[in-house]
Amino acid sequence: MNSLRNIPAVDELLGDGRVQGFIEMYSRSLVVGQIRELLGEFREHLRTGGESPSRLEMTETIIKHLGIRLEQITRGTLHRVINGTGVVLHTNLGRAVLSSSALRYINQVGEGYVDLEFDLATGVRGSRYSHVEGVLTNLTGAEAALVVNNNAAAVLLALNTLAAGREVIISRGELVEIGGAFRIPEVMRSSGSRLVEVGTTNRTYLRDFEQALTTETALLLAVHTSNYQIVGFTETVPLKALVELGASAGLPVMFDMGSGALFDLSPWGLRDEPTVQECIHQGVDVVTFSGDKLLGGPQAGIIVGKKDYIEEMKRNQLTRALRVDKFTIAALEATLLEYLTGDARQNIPALSMMTMDEGDLQQRAERFQARLQEELRDEVLIQSIETVKVEDQVGGGAYPTQGLPGYAVEICLKGDNAARVVGKLRTGEPSVLTRIQDDRLLISLRTLLPGDEELIAGRLQQVIGGIRVE
Ligand SMILES: *Cc1c(COP(=O)(O)O)cnc(C)c1O
Repeated sequence: MNSLRNIPAVDELLGDGRVQGFIEMYSRSLVVGQIRELLGEFREHLRTGGESPSRLEMTETIIKHLGIRLEQITRGTLHRVINGTGVVLHTNLGRAVLSSSALRYINQVGEGYVDLEFDLATGVRGSRYSHVEGVLTNLTGAEAALVVNNNAAAVLLALNTLAAGREVIISRGELVEIGGAFRIPEVMRSSGSRLVEVGTTNRTYLRDFEQALTTETALLLAVHTSNYQIVGFTETVPLKALVELGASAGLPVMFDMGSGALFDLSPWGLRDEPTVQECIHQGVDVVTFSGDKLLGGPQAGIIVGKKDYIEEMKRNQLTRALRVDKFTIAALEATLLEYLTGDARQNIPALSMMTMDEGDLQQRAERFQARLQEELRDEVLIQSIETVKVEDQVGGGAYPTQGLPGYAVEICLKGDNAARVVGKLRTGEPSVLTRIQDDRLLISLRTLLPGDEELIAGRLQQVIGGIRVE
């Protein structure tokens, strides 16, 4: 217990020149708060039988930890991650990487005041929703458009506006759950509408919809099964047939597309995803999709469709709670303008990554392999470094069954060190995410950004050099 009395007092620590330096660099309240926390932890540590250092040793330890902690806290909690996984739209890694035009526009909009809700021509209040509506209707062929916080919000708003207190008919095969707890039956309950499921998990016919129609029916809903596929003995109702049924029954038809491609990816072998334009062309009344999946923009929920329905949604009180901010509008508009000017594939990182030429990927992998072989040639822990074919993924719940043929650099290490190296690469700075397959470390080239190879080479040297061979 004597050692507890050796703990330095807050005032004593504040008298230390190094602590004064921290106060100048950060702030007094932050430093004092952290000292109190550290002293508390130290006391606990000594009480639970830790060794008993001298007062001087304690002071030194506390000041050292204080410096580390202050640096960590003030650096922020979002860390740059190098994505070597080959998953292009990784929800846990923030989905789409933004285009440089989107980043420039965000910067411009954040630096000063903007006419977000102000009509400069007349000098009266305008609408924030007017900004991207024109480009969205132009690109999709829809009559009107509305943008909200994310696609989950878009579905919630659409259902609440079109079907609160009434029935929505949907096929049993489309009651999806998307990662992060978006479940169609639950969203429907939150919207105040009633779920009427028809057909079976694997087979649903148009007559199932017809037979479920009542005077309570408000909407026919189709949901894209973005993250799974039912294969084998199956039957789904084509969108076109649903649209015809809706027209004859005088009911709107809504399609939650999820990914929402504006760009036809079929020339690159990605075939299962209809484009938004096709759905609108087929006569679907309301289409909802994400801004940060196949579109390659910021997190947003986009609703396009018939004007009457969209106008009704704009008047819904919920819209205010689900509204987007100026940065989302800026990033989304800049991204959409890339489509409008025909530069989407080239300038939107997600699209570039998904449509990369296999030969180019192979060359890039071989160059990276040669570089690593050169820079890591003295590391005894390395057994081999090779270029290998891998299967990359679109991610974000799109194309669940179709991989993207890609290339990776494969590092084979001596002993059981692969998991250890993968862990150290992940936790260091910058964090590097890789994959392990059969005890080998894989770094996919598809999702690396310019300059990442150099950073990875540096991290590998640091990590592998730091592991002693037993
Ligand atoms: C991804 C997805 C959603 C949710 O979209 P968020 O933008 O993540 O909110 C909803 N429906 C479908 C079909 C999806 O694929």
